[in-house]
Amino acid sequence: MAIHKLLLLPGDGIGPEVMAEVDRVLAFFNKTGRAQFTTETALCGGCSIDKHGVPLTDEVLGKAKAADAIIFGSVGGPKWDKVKYEIRPEAGLLRLRKELDLFANLRPAICYPALAEASSLKRELVEGLDILILRELTGGTYFGEPKEIVTLEDGQKRAVDTTVYTTREIERIARVAFDLARKRGNKVHSAEKRNVMKTGVLWNQVVTALHAKEAKDVELHHILADACAMQLVRNPKQFDVIVCDNLFGDMLSDEAAMLAGSLGMLPSASLGAPDPKTGIPKALYEPIHGSAPDIAGQGVANPIAQISSFGMALRYSCNLPREADMIDKAIANTLAAGYRTGDIMQPNMRKVGTTEMGKAITTELERLAG
Ligand code: NAD
Repeated sequence: MAIHKLLLLPGDGIGPEVMAEVDRVLAFFNKTGRAQFTTETALCGGCSIDKHGVPLTDEVLGKAKAADAIIFGSVGGPKWDKVKYEIRPEAGLLRLRKELDLFANLRPAICYPALAEASSLKRELVEGLDILILRELTGGTYFGEPKEIVTLEDGQKRAVDTTVYTTREIERIARVAFDLARKRGNKVHSAEKRNVMKTGVLWNQVVTALHAKEAKDVELHHILADACAMQLVRNPKQFDVIVCDNLFGDMLSDEAAMLAGSLGMLPSASLGAPDPKTGIPKALYEPIHGSAPDIAGQGVANPIAQISSFGMALRYSCNLPREADMIDKAIANTLAAGYRTGDIMQPNMRKVGTTEMGKAITTELERLAG
């Protein structure tokens, strides 16, 4: 049996609290022999600044490069608000994404039936929702140069961000979209702003050409990014996979996240190019929520997004789809049994803390394993 080598980077705030529940789930798999993992835990973010003066040391970066997958918690908090911009906690995560060339960000928005009432949309619009937003993560407006604020002769300031995409960058993210769609509902919506942006024109052309060349079996729709934002709240179940650039993906994935009810529920994956030998990409898995300093240390954080992120690692890095399905089922069943952390609490449900939720999910895993 393959032994999967995981690097755990719990980070700051609630990161270590929710990561402890991933440890519990890992121990279940190791104990039952359904899968074998070795894990190492290291510092990234504010905790690394405190110890080493930087948010990510070269040593930890080396471990990240050698791991089969990185399970990331969350970084940051008011304690580090005043550190220099270059060494802020988030710079550790950005360096990991850049060094491992993690260009594809997968953000599922799943609405568990038991939580349909927690969404701000009507139950019938979101119940059973399962869509995947695929965001290009290493190009576009956040990285394009020039990126600057200059002072003009009359004392006014002028700020510039630049949106840049090349054929290769668009092709590789579109290819991931078509591959993922084949394993799901076989439908891709490509969202851009070709009506007002040159990058949108190129995006549309490249996706269309790649579809004709490699993915005729997948249903492809083009949609303007603003129309996509509107359709996400009007009729979200029409979508399967939505692929878009870095900036639009940032907005659309946050919007889609809220369809599912709570930040504490949603995982994400950031993938690089598949390894030519194994076909398995470099990858980092993390919840979409931050370090939640307002509730850190109280044992009340919802660990589901973190456990679900580990589930995505089983699917995309460890080739363990059945075990990933088991985790999803155990979470759904635990919610159906009425367990709720504070962020998803509903009337007549059983309010639990981080540890109790993690234990309930693991107990359900044991039951499912028979
Ligand atoms: P946040 O996601 O940490 O918190 C937003 C709200 O959601 C808070 O009220 C919080 O209590 C709640 N929440 C978040 N996760 C929860 C969970 N698992 N269970 C229950 N409630 C939960 O966002 P923020 O407050 O904007 O940011 C806090 C810090 O996290 C900042 O320093 C920010 O830079 C950082 N951050 C880091 C990442 C990351 O590491 N990838 C992502 C986002 C924010």
